[in-house]
Amino acid sequence: MSFRCTPPPKDPVRTLATEPWKLAVSAFQVSPRTWYVSGQTWVGAYLIDTGSGCILIDTAIPESLYMLVNAIYQSGHTPSDIRMILLSHAHFDHIGAAAALKALTGAPIYMSEEDTRFMAECPDETLVLDPDSHPQLFTVDKFYHNDTPIRLGDIEIRTLLTPGHTIGCTSFFWQETNPVNGERYTVAMHGGVGANTMNDNYYAKSKGLTPDLRDRFLADEPKVGAIHVDIALPSHPNQIEILDKAGQYTHESQPYLDSTIWADFMHERVRQVKALMKD
Ligand SMILES: [Zn+2]
Repeated sequence: MSFRCTPPPKDPVRTLATEPWKLAVSAFQVSPRTWYVSGQTWVGAYLIDTGSGCILIDTAIPESLYMLVNAIYQSGHTPSDIRMILLSHAHFDHIGAAAALKALTGAPIYMSEEDTRFMAECPDETLVLDPDSHPQLFTVDKFYHNDTPIRLGDIEIRTLLTPGHTIGCTSFFWQETNPVNGERYTVAMHGGVGANTMNDNYYAKSKGLTPDLRDRFLADEPKVGAIHVDIALPSHPNQIEILDKAGQYTHESQPYLDSTIWADFMHERVRQVKALMKD
């Protein structure tokens, strides 16, 4: 397998609100302990079974909440298994259903302190960015710290502040063991890489994001890209093609195992950001 990205769906919010079957996808496993559970093909959400409850990474939007809940059941889990809700960054497409998920599960919500402030100060650039989506406000219960991993069951998630796409965009790294052969894999999801908020046109209108975030993203890439990752998961499944192998996972086959993808993915995103700087 080699790294491949694909175009995102057109007009995804309206499609999810009015013709959701066009973007629907059943839950599928991506690693020994993790399932893709957003129920739709635009925005990713992942459920990690820690052996003592589950961790949910990102929630997608309220218009696709029922698809996510359905996908959690399809994965063999229930919403009441969720003990923590981790949010990658404060854009509506990742956090829009957070209020509902918190009410449904009682689980605390984690987000970076930087993006919690960004959300409070610039709602029209974060939670209510798209008029077709109708998220509810929520409170963040805990902030991330690079030096303090999040632990549940036998899973330990290291969080890394990776600014650029937003101020407090946060990436996640954790280890899983293949129960068949005992191999250990580092699984990761980058918190956000979209160049749509890392260009001069965006900065000209933005109240919260400034060009130094783009500088930081470019400067950090060698360090972030050098992290060894065996299974790289995208926050939007078009960023790293994973849908084409949906349903193929077995512990023996490990269809998503490829330690070249993470670095290639980071290089590609830097290329996209630099391409916009030449316009
Ligand atoms: Zn975003």
